[in-house]
Amino acid sequence: MEKRKELELYVHIPFCVKKCAYCDFLSAPADEEKRQEYVETLVREIEGHREQYREYRVTTIFVGGGTPSILSAAQMECIFASLRENFLIEENAEITIEVNPGTVTVEKADAWKRAGINRISIGLQTVNDEELRMLGRIHTFEQFLETYYLLRKKGFMNLNVDLISAIPGQTQDSWRKTLCTVAELEPEHISAYSLIVEEGTSFYKLYGDDKDRDRDVDTSETTAVSERYRVCGSVKSELKEREYLPLPNEDVERAIYEETEKLLQQYGYNRYEISNYAKKGYACRHNEGYWRRKEYLGIGLGASSLIGKQRYRNLSRYDEYIDAVQNRTDIHEETEYLEKTNEMEEFMFLGLRMMEGVSRTKFYENFEKEIEEVYGEQLMRLAGDGLIRSDEERIELTKRGIDISNYVFEQFLLE
Ligand code: SF4
Repeated sequence: MEKRKELELYVHIPFCVKKCAYCDFLSAPADEEKRQEYVETLVREIEGHREQYREYRVTTIFVGGGTPSILSAAQMECIFASLRENFLIEENAEITIEVNPGTVTVEKADAWKRAGINRISIGLQTVNDEELRMLGRIHTFEQFLETYYLLRKKGFMNLNVDLISAIPGQTQDSWRKTLCTVAELEPEHISAYSLIVEEGTSFYKLYGDDKDRDRDVDTSETTAVSERYRVCGSVKSELKEREYLPLPNEDVERAIYEETEKLLQQYGYNRYEISNYAKKGYACRHNEGYWRRKEYLGIGLGASSLIGKQRYRNLSRYDEYIDAVQNRTDIHEETEYLEKTNEMEEFMFLGLRMMEGVSRTKFYENFEKEIEEVYGEQLMRLAGDGLIRSDEERIELTKRGIDISNYVFEQFLLE
């Protein structure tokens, strides 16, 4: 089994109960008939991959969305039965599902256990109900707690909680309360992202003018893996005039950002990536694979893949995707062949997202060149500006580098 190449799987479920005000992920509400049609199509897509991935062993699976927990117990079991039938999945594979409070039941949790799911990522965002309402979330903090305790009771011992800072009207105090309340529950992993106002969202209509503020924002834990794509068309705004609270200013935002690491450290969480924190031994293996440029196959609407030297993206228009899978025609809407220079760029800016940084040895093994030979000038300049530090083996971001990481990453573009 060890001789086979490693593969990560991402399965996209593009359905949600209702669209959140800040969300630009590829997700939308759908009725039961459509959800069933999609599950059947996913299974057909999975079957179609069988031959090509015969030589691989699957080390991680991530079912993301959208809200995968919107699917019934039977639908999720059907997807996993097909995955197990068509891929060789390692016995100790990390298998994650994203869930949202308000959509989790005892029956579903039992089915996830039976399917072998061993890690659950819960979308909470904030413990403050007013902020949850502002974000357009479907649940309260109380409902999150019910979900959290239900999952613990069912024996899920690897839980992530997703949080968002810089919510309109949020203060440093309210962010601190969110962090402490969640850390006291002792999930194994916490993702803490800063809100970004994306085009096409309800928030963009209210805060669009502020969108260019200097923020080091990236996408959520699953987004890092799946590279979720924007929803086409406009999103119906449900926000009322009186809810137009200001976004926190840059000073508050920076303070929030700095406090997050300190506070979570006190609770025993190690920051292993710009926005991700874990108790010892609980870093998300699936995401680490993404940052280390392991091969991954994305299954489902708009899902992206990295296989060999190619990046693919599945069709992201629902009807086109369904038709292509059903008729066994090409399901990709984009295929990019990566040149050596593209791979070097990715190696640098994905690798630097992790606190351990990038390895000089690995760079040489991959590209048969010393890192200085390619990036000597950039490394010297960034070190001089106090944005990176390095020793004989590793290069990593400094605290200041983390603050403006997008700028640092741009410096590694070669063309
Ligand atoms: S933020 Fe998550 S739950 Fe909300 S609409 Fe987007 S994918 Fe769905």
